[in-house]
Amino acid sequence: MFQKILRLLGRLEQHFFLWRNTMQIMNNVYEHYDVVIIGGGLGGLVSGNYLAKAGKKVLLAEQHFQPGGCCTSFKRKGFTFDAGGHFFGSFGEKGFLRKIIQDLELEDKIKFKEAEPSDYLVFPDFTVKIVRDLSHIEQQLKSIFPDEEEGITKFLSYLKTFNYTMSFRIKDKTFREILDSFFRDEKIKAVFDVLLLYIGLPSKQMSAVAGIILFRDFILDGGYYPLGSMQNFSNMLAQQMEKFGGTVMLSTKVEKINIEENKVTGITLKDGRIIQSDYVISNADANQTFLDMIGEEHLEQKFVTRLKEMEPSVSHFNVYLGIKSEAVENLAVKGNTWYVPEYDIEKIYNKMRTNPFHENGFIHIAFPSFYDESLSPEGHESIFLTILAPFKNVSYWKEQKESLSQLLIERAEHIIPELSQNIVVKEISTPQTIYRYTLNSQGANYGWAMKNSQVSRLRLNQKSPVKGLYLAGHWTLPGAGLATVAQSGYTAAKMILEDTH
Ligand SMILES: Cc1cc2nc3c(=O)[nH]c(=O)nc-3n(C[C@H](O)[C@H](O)[C@H](O)COP(=O)(O)OP(=O)(O)OC[C@H]3O[C@@H](n4cnc5c(N)ncnc54)[C@H](O)[C@@H]3O)c2cc1C
Repeated sequence: MFQKILRLLGRLEQHFFLWRNTMQIMNNVYEHYDVVIIGGGLGGLVSGNYLAKAGKKVLLAEQHFQPGGCCTSFKRKGFTFDAGGHFFGSFGEKGFLRKIIQDLELEDKIKFKEAEPSDYLVFPDFTVKIVRDLSHIEQQLKSIFPDEEEGITKFLSYLKTFNYTMSFRIKDKTFREILDSFFRDEKIKAVFDVLLLYIGLPSKQMSAVAGIILFRDFILDGGYYPLGSMQNFSNMLAQQMEKFGGTVMLSTKVEKINIEENKVTGITLKDGRIIQSDYVISNADANQTFLDMIGEEHLEQKFVTRLKEMEPSVSHFNVYLGIKSEAVENLAVKGNTWYVPEYDIEKIYNKMRTNPFHENGFIHIAFPSFYDESLSPEGHESIFLTILAPFKNVSYWKEQKESLSQLLIERAEHIIPELSQNIVVKEISTPQTIYRYTLNSQGANYGWAMKNSQVSRLRLNQKSPVKGLYLAGHWTLPGAGLATVAQSGYTAAKMILEDTH
């Protein structure tokens, strides 16, 4: 009953947003804003909140019918499924996300559940349980890899004490080089390697600094699940922005960023309406922002060339399943699980990037309803299976998605043996689905791939080359991930507040 009321309220809220947007457009109510934000991913929503709270007149335009971008959810037959992210990081005592929640007065509105354990890594010869207590991870690894005892102690201590001075020394290194300096056994390297896939690259391609920050802020800090779903978190941010006096317009696509003499003058919406503003924050895909919404003719050739050389991160293929709880009652693993049939992560990664059907591919199984039982009807669980996947065209996915989903279900049966007999609801998303709902190039999950040539000072700056245009989100600094883009939203707002002071 309670679930039904929640669903009804959710639908009413959507209708209200749409109705209100239409009225605003018809009445041409708003024409000039202090700041316009393109995109309601977490980067955009967090910027909008800080700016509105500081008294700026802010408009956020989001093309999707709900806010959140990669942080959205959908419902099917009583099950709630998160479309993208499954955990937040950086919510520990000193985590940046915690600061944002406090600053934005959301502590009473959003509750996070600590995911403990956050991950199980299931390899052919052993399983590692990732928990907050590092000494527990240390003990497990030492009992599996007694010959690596010294390296394990040193590596974990290195991760714990890592600071920005140290980051300068390893700025050109890959994460693999760091692993090689501590370990000899390829199997222990695979343990750390597979976790890097949480931001989309294996260790040989991943920037060492980005990898270490991922471990520090996301993995060793543990995962956190926002109760009520990922969508609930995004909705709260949108509502709070409005409470601070900002305006959120959903189902509103921005077509153009208007510029005169290399200075932003506002935006043009898809319906042709022009909104004036001296400041624009783009939370949208960077290629779209610069090449489509601005146009090469307004940009320096050097910048355009660099942009065209940059490489988007991977995308995902997801199978969302509503299942009977009996399928998972006696599982050995009780949390999100990586099933990894081979130790050479680099090799499997490269194969899966071109062929999602690669037979020894890994799979990630998320169990959100283990952390929040409101996500599924009583006696059921909501889970999702994920692999990385190439950005192929719509007709490829129309033909292949059903058989690929079957392959994922079979693979997941290594962990949940009676999975196929217990499925009540199934939904599939492909890289094209991610593209459709976020407009991120090639359905990229994490903005630009987190390689050395695309992180730190080599990532796009938040202050763009166009005066008045700022960036927030995973195409800019500091990088990818839910908490990280929230931080970038904070910084973009801060930059504008300083500029307009
Ligand atoms: C499948 C998947 C799983 C992930 N798992 C995790 C995880 O577990 N933990 C984690 O920390 N991170 C995870 N990530 C990464 C993380 O979710 C993203 O890095 C982050 O949410 C990106 O946020 P963003 O602010 O950059 O914008 P996005 O979420 O990309 O949102 C951009 C928004 O802009 C809108 N937009 C684009 N163009 C326009 C336009 N022209 N007009 C109006 N609106 C526009 C889009 O509709 C979208 O809502 C995952 C990502 C994906 C896709």
